[in-house]
Amino acid sequence: MPSITGSIIERRRIVIQGIVQGVGFRPFVYGQALQWGLVGFVLNDSGGVTIEVEGTSESLNCFQGALHKKAPPLARIDTLNAETIALCYDSAFTIAQSQAGNERQALISPDTATCDDCQHELFDQEDRRFHYPFINCTNCGPRFTIIQDVPYDRDKTTMRVFPMCRECQSEYEDPLNRRFHAQPNACPTCGPQVYLLDRVGNIKTPFQTNIRIAGHPTKADKSAMGAINRPLRMTHGDPIIEAAQQLATGAILAIKGLGGYHLACDALNDESVRQLRQRKHREAKPFALMVPDLDTARKLCRISDEEASLLKSHHRPIVLLSRLPGCPVAPDVAPAYDTLGIMLPYTPLHHVLLQAFAENMNVGQLAVLVMTSGNLSDEPIAYKDDEAVQRLASIAEGTLTHNRDIHMRCDDTVMRITAGGEQLFRRSRGYAPEPIMMSFDFPAQLLACGGHLKNTFCLGKGRQAFISQHIGDLENLETLTSFREGIEHFQRLFDIHPEVVAYDLHPEYLATKYALDTNIPQKIGVQHHHAHIASVLAEHGLHEPVIGIAADGTGYGTDGAVWGCEIMKADLLGFERLAHLDYMPLPGGEQAVHQPWRMAAVNLAQTYGNAFSDLDIPFVQQLDYSKWRVLAQMIAQHINCPPTSSLGRLFDAVAALIGLRSTVLYEGQAAIELEMLARQQEGSIYKKPADLYPFTIKKRDQMPAILDVSPMFRAIVRHIQQGVSTSHIAHRFHHSIAELLATACFSAREQTGLHVVALSGGVFQNQLLLTQLVQRLEEMAFQVYINRRVPPNDGGISLGQIAVAAAHMQRR
Ligand SMILES: [Zn+2]
Ligand SMILES: [Zn+2]
Repeated sequence: MPSITGSIIERRRIVIQGIVQGVGFRPFVYGQALQWGLVGFVLNDSGGVTIEVEGTSESLNCFQGALHKKAPPLARIDTLNAETIALCYDSAFTIAQSQAGNERQALISPDTATCDDCQHELFDQEDRRFHYPFINCTNCGPRFTIIQDVPYDRDKTTMRVFPMCRECQSEYEDPLNRRFHAQPNACPTCGPQVYLLDRVGNIKTPFQTNIRIAGHPTKADKSAMGAINRPLRMTHGDPIIEAAQQLATGAILAIKGLGGYHLACDALNDESVRQLRQRKHREAKPFALMVPDLDTARKLCRISDEEASLLKSHHRPIVLLSRLPGCPVAPDVAPAYDTLGIMLPYTPLHHVLLQAFAENMNVGQLAVLVMTSGNLSDEPIAYKDDEAVQRLASIAEGTLTHNRDIHMRCDDTVMRITAGGEQLFRRSRGYAPEPIMMSFDFPAQLLACGGHLKNTFCLGKGRQAFISQHIGDLENLETLTSFREGIEHFQRLFDIHPEVVAYDLHPEYLATKYALDTNIPQKIGVQHHHAHIASVLAEHGLHEPVIGIAADGTGYGTDGAVWGCEIMKADLLGFERLAHLDYMPLPGGEQAVHQPWRMAAVNLAQTYGNAFSDLDIPFVQQLDYSKWRVLAQMIAQHINCPPTSSLGRLFDAVAALIGLRSTVLYEGQAAIELEMLARQQEGSIYKKPADLYPFTIKKRDQMPAILDVSPMFRAIVRHIQQGVSTSHIAHRFHHSIAELLATACFSAREQTGLHVVALSGGVFQNQLLLTQLVQRLEEMAFQVYINRRVPPNDGGISLGQIAVAAAHMQRR
């Protein structure tokens, strides 16, 4: 229909899917509609956002263009469908009531770090939210961890119990306010409160602006007290500032964060850090640190531009960084590590705490807090209040907590910049539950149960793979509960009813048993290392077969052996094993993982036979022969000595052989220390093959080739005898393994004609090996892909499993 000005008036219905709820999308649409003089409405539904707009075709086109170009920072548009419909002649543009539909396609935003606008208000003495530790807006704040159901509205979150005051309500209802429909919107008058508890859970300091007459607790106070059935004892003062003072004088505190509790102490205080390590029974793994700003981080570590922007990104991961010489953090923060895991504050509580802590420091002293997961070693992070006080009472002298419940446990994400991009060690807070888009449509709704260690699960629907937050090692009831509840929660949030379940072939994995126990009709087992390679294929949308190198500690092989260094020809449908590290017995199974000396002895026995006991090297001289004879007997009689091709165990063996470590406190410790040692020689260049340790690749008819490293052991033993430094041996060993794997790829290319290589597996968390191998492969004109959006370790295999299962369904 022509308008008065001669242009055509049109009405369009625009349906948008993606992350468009809880990220300020509707006010943005509203603003754009006003700008272009359009009428109609916008609403959230469980599919995403639906817009109907009416106006001239020109302004409709401009409006539609702006949706893509100017969307709010946290929004992600996956699909936008527009159709012309009949005119309605509305009088204005409105934001209509949310609709709960049948289909739940709407994506849920991950938790997001406090934005600049909110930070500014937080430290503005004139602002009504000055120092209020729950300030947020549509561009920042908690999301995934507080959402109980969809569509995402306040009454489906743990903010439900805090009715908004008049001022907050008017912000919430004003489409031009940046808190318009910010579901966690709150202020000191109406929102959650923070409390400082003493060791047994008594409230020591409630939030200062909310002091009431003792003995008359409010509803919020009662909920904060939870199971702590004691009368309130009100004292004046700000609990965050008091917590900062306590930390500055050496206390260890539990601090409630977004997805769980942290344990915190002054990272420069040797005694506090030592105490924390002792009480937490975490004898070796490094603690993460939080610093107030990038400048402080730069005084501890070397930080590139890329690393700086990752630290400052709204995801706010822990970033692994190279420690500067003379870095003042206590030695017990990260013993034997040349890196530190650092993050910047990501909640308003962190911002206030870190600032107050810095003000308590002496002039010139850096403000650095240890912020490690609130748990005893191996347990999952505590996130429920009464449970946290109980579980952490033996560690923390007090607890800085609040009365906004955490619905979903979610640990910090851990990342680093390497080999030209980002690498995840753990994908969790700030990333989950944002889906990874696949290059194909899932032929059915699927569930993949993941592995045993560093478990994540994955649900697939449409083109989206929803990978869970880090669940942990499925070794205790609590983690298993978290796994089961997590799957149920994700199924509800994303309305997924799996028809297919994918699982690891290891019959003893709890995730596998869970999969086999479900009543999901189709069950597809996926070999562990195939899943690793498939995760790379899925991430990068690769459909043609590739040469895959899967290198890790443990994975169940199709022959029942413990695989862990596999060169394969693989696509999503299947794999062919082209080569693997020579099988060694793994004496005592799991025991051998904790005692690397066993693998050193096994490799020496394999290389030299029984004569190895005559070798004049410290490892052999110090070997406990009574223990070795038992192992040798077990090996001879094939008792609990599964054959293994694990590359992780080979690193263990070399670490033990050069005297670095004969036992470990966690898997991978020896290998990590070997890498640190090797890095001391960084810059050494090996120009001739003769500079490297030798190896042999044994080709066999119709069988996978064997990568034989016994020549390497002979050469290392010779070096030890000649007194070559251990760091030099470690460095040369890394380069030699890179050369071995690159050479194996070269043979694989001759055999298959393939020139694309995918690398995955926990061993590729080894930066030295990874960068060296990528470089060698590129020199050989291979195209190399690695995991960028999921971890290379077992945290990434659920993505590979789901992609493999989908490929099988597609073929049927
Ligand atoms: Zn904000
Ligand atoms: Zn309020």
